[in-house]
Amino acid sequence: MDLLMEERVFGKLDEVNASPEYKKNVAATKRILEYVVMVPGWQDKLLNSPLKALAEIGLGDYPDPDCLKILLSREEAERANKEIKLEDMPLSVLRYRNFIREKFQSRDEMAAKDCVPKDKRFAAWRTRQRNRCWIDLGMRNASIIHTPLIFEFSLGCSVGCPFCGVAAQGLKTVFRATPENRQMWQDILRTCKEVIGPAAGTGTCYYACEPLDCPDYEVLTADYADILGAVPQTTTAVAMRNPERTKKYLEAMRQREIKVHRFSVLSLDTLHKIMAFFTPEELLDVELLPQFPEAPDNHFTKVGRARAGEVATDETQEDGTIACVSGFVVNMAEKSIRLVTPCPSDESHPTGEIFVDRRSFTDAADFAAVLESMIADNMVIDFPRTEPLRLRETITIEETKDGIEILGRKGFKLRLTGNDDIPAELYKHTAQLILTGNKSPYDIVGELMTSINAPAAHVFFILNKLGRGGIFQEPYGSK
Ligand code: SF4
Repeated sequence: MDLLMEERVFGKLDEVNASPEYKKNVAATKRILEYVVMVPGWQDKLLNSPLKALAEIGLGDYPDPDCLKILLSREEAERANKEIKLEDMPLSVLRYRNFIREKFQSRDEMAAKDCVPKDKRFAAWRTRQRNRCWIDLGMRNASIIHTPLIFEFSLGCSVGCPFCGVAAQGLKTVFRATPENRQMWQDILRTCKEVIGPAAGTGTCYYACEPLDCPDYEVLTADYADILGAVPQTTTAVAMRNPERTKKYLEAMRQREIKVHRFSVLSLDTLHKIMAFFTPEELLDVELLPQFPEAPDNHFTKVGRARAGEVATDETQEDGTIACVSGFVVNMAEKSIRLVTPCPSDESHPTGEIFVDRRSFTDAADFAAVLESMIADNMVIDFPRTEPLRLRETITIEETKDGIEILGRKGFKLRLTGNDDIPAELYKHTAQLILTGNKSPYDIVGELMTSINAPAAHVFFILNKLGRGGIFQEPYGSK
């Protein structure tokens, strides 16, 4: 058991220590589950005649077909967890669970630590956006890393998916790695590293575009990895447009760092082609996303182009988002920078993004100046002490017996209770003044010092705590 826990598939290359046998087993389990979630009727086939079903997909030597039930059904998993001692659990189940846990751990570490920008203003702004998203998006926020920086090498996208969450328009321009462009690109990367620090390397080189639309994606992402010290995560919807290219790219990037990449699978036919071209081990670090309606596990989020109703959407994700950035999206093709953060998709925010700001740049030096001015204009460490604090529209505050309760969308509640140091009454008085409206932090502190002799530090403590929690409108919201 301990030995198993030491085996890892992901992590920095020199830390990855999974044996070939371990990887082969996890990759086979992953592939079997991919057939289950993407091929209609395949799960029944697997449960009724496992050996035949596995042989048909080239996994006739899978060590323990019976154990798959534990991975396929919640009831079976719960039964197994109760009845089977950990050391007796089938090895394939333990290994696959470990593999999934590694991915979740890595995602959580990115959100909490790796994606935090070096610039203090940017870091404080991102923290507020992340906390706001807990209120507005609930558990959906757990899967958002809020990367501070993303690049795009093209304007628009050649694929035109009917469910496109960012509603990408048709392909217009592509940034090419000419000598001048490459120099500008490398200089921009250096600026980002300087301002954002290691967190600059946590993003991607695609957003509202298809990465492989850029013929120089390989060269440009190699520069990214050289300068930022990290491989950008790639998700492509055209893995099979030139499968040799895709395979070669993934292999080259693996030599630098093992990272989770993704293929958006747009049809059953493409799935079969992917499975025929790539071995299970070659896709161990590549997630396959079932993006076609017949797939049993397909769930289109109602966001972006999917709001138009052309594809059936998952009603449980009615107001979702697919945005993963709380920061800058730099489009190299049109030389623009937009400042974006996720929010629930609605009529005012159809793509599930708040567009905070958007500016253009002319060259690398101008990029540095524009980036700094966008940070200075939109990101404060603390809310200005002389400007009124304004609650966001979806937030209310109510008093409780022992403090206050923050109420948000869809039943969100956060209770703040008083204690010996900061009594419940101080929370209540502070909330009353916030709700009165048009009062700045200094107004609130001054009034409470006069009316109830409140210590200024305690009132600021409450206001800062609420501010970090993402309940106030950002200063840019008033522009
Ligand atoms: S989902 Fe991705 S590949 Fe499809 S249209 Fe949108 S940006 Fe392009």
